[in-house]
Amino acid sequence: MSNTDIPVTNPRTGEVDYHVPAFDAGAVAAAAARLRTHQPAWEALRPSGRAQALMALSDAIGRHGDAIFTALSEDTGRRLMARVETSAVRDWMGYWAQRAPRLLSEDSAGTSRMAPSVRWSHRLIPYSVVGIISPWNVPLLLGLIDAVPALAAGCGILLKPSEVTPRFAEPLSQAIAEVPELAGVVEIVTGGPETGQALIENADAVCFTGSVPTGRKVAVQAASHFVPAFLELGGKDPAIVLPSADLDQATDAILRSAVGMTGQACQSLERIYVHESVMERFLERLVEKARAVELNWPDPERGQIGPFIFPPQGAKVQAHIDQAVKAGAQILCGGQVEEHGGSWCRPTVLTGVTHEMAIMREETFGPIMPVMPFSTTEEAIALANDSDFGLSGAVFAGTREEGEAVAEQVTGGAISVNDASLTSQVHDVAKNSFCLSGMGGSRMGDDGLMRFLRKRAILYQSGTPSSLAIMDESLSRGSGPGDDAPDH
Ligand code: NAD
Repeated sequence: MSNTDIPVTNPRTGEVDYHVPAFDAGAVAAAAARLRTHQPAWEALRPSGRAQALMALSDAIGRHGDAIFTALSEDTGRRLMARVETSAVRDWMGYWAQRAPRLLSEDSAGTSRMAPSVRWSHRLIPYSVVGIISPWNVPLLLGLIDAVPALAAGCGILLKPSEVTPRFAEPLSQAIAEVPELAGVVEIVTGGPETGQALIENADAVCFTGSVPTGRKVAVQAASHFVPAFLELGGKDPAIVLPSADLDQATDAILRSAVGMTGQACQSLERIYVHESVMERFLERLVEKARAVELNWPDPERGQIGPFIFPPQGAKVQAHIDQAVKAGAQILCGGQVEEHGGSWCRPTVLTGVTHEMAIMREETFGPIMPVMPFSTTEEAIALANDSDFGLSGAVFAGTREEGEAVAEQVTGGAISVNDASLTSQVHDVAKNSFCLSGMGGSRMGDDGLMRFLRKRAILYQSGTPSSLAIMDESLSRGSGPGDDAPDH
């Protein structure tokens, strides 16, 4: 099955305490071949049969919940999120089990407006093998977020979890094995970049969640293999705090979004722009709340901030802070990565930052809140849009109208008003990723399923087919171009 094993580090201890097999190209091709054998029967189950199987998988995940929890908490150092991830994927299965049969039964037939004698109907053709490559920050949820709608659409799934957090693959495979309809319909291939490359070679469509540099490679390889790639990449989400905003609510939401999951979420707020007239009061409240946040170390059942999951992450976050301070930024709280086995960082508030600093331009992926003042709304919008990314963002204002008027000018796929990172709660609303934050159809909302189905139009001629006479050049002598133009 594999040539090598990859060592996996426990982020709480900093020790390697697990190894995961790296599937080689041959093993990935064999898994894809199994999917191609079994996917037609899965598709033939129809939406309602697939919905039942998804509910059975949800139940099986429930039965294996303890083992999945242990795997996730060992890989991420988080306990609460390990529970949340497990219940979120089960909710997601319930959502698509209900939604997909309705969505796929919607009438899809009619008469052409351009050629009224032509009756049309659509057949929806799922991709046989959807390849999914997922990152380390939310391992189970991001492993399954595209897999569930793709399964509901009738596709087979070839899933490669991140080699940084692969432990859930074992208990998840056991849960999948308890649903007979899914035999040969979901294949999990563990490994690193080479396994990911082999996956792309064997997939009919690729869903990738991860960093921009890897996303570029995936897009190039998918293009040369001639398959679509749906990319969900990094972010540098801005928040704008207008003078009319409720500062208590704004600081609560910004702190939660920026430091929750240790800032290791694509939709974490990473840049904060505050109107100069409320800056002092805003900082007072933010820093007071940030100082009250505790590491969940040494007791994993206390505190709010876990360790950095990916070992090099601590050094990257520290480098962003140090570079900013060297260039003139001030630290109001936090600011120092701590080593307690793994690496940890307390919520960090910085002022005196500029857009020349990496901390305002590159994805930091840590619990860091760099705050910059603005004097006009136009300036705030320009600062928010001065970024290579366009994932999401937030606007805080006294009224819905004022907030939405600003939100609609911010570049990004989802802008929360008077809250932050709402896309992590609202999965039923379509949104795209802008700029370097992604490419391809929305993973959220109905589009999240429909993008896995190609449309085959069956076009029935109810009248008399045209003869070659309509191509006769003598028609070009007619009254004017286009009057009797042939079909094209
Ligand atoms: P990464 O790009 O390093 O790795 C992601 C996956 O790609 C891993 O499974 C890895 O093994 C695989 N991979 C690496 N090289 C490959 C190659 N050449 N071909 C195919 N696969 C390859 O990302 P990461 O560090 O695991 O995740 C963090 C990143 O993910 C952050 O940038 C974060 O913003 C982003 N992210 C985005 C979203 C979103 O929805 N937009 C959600 C979560 C995370």
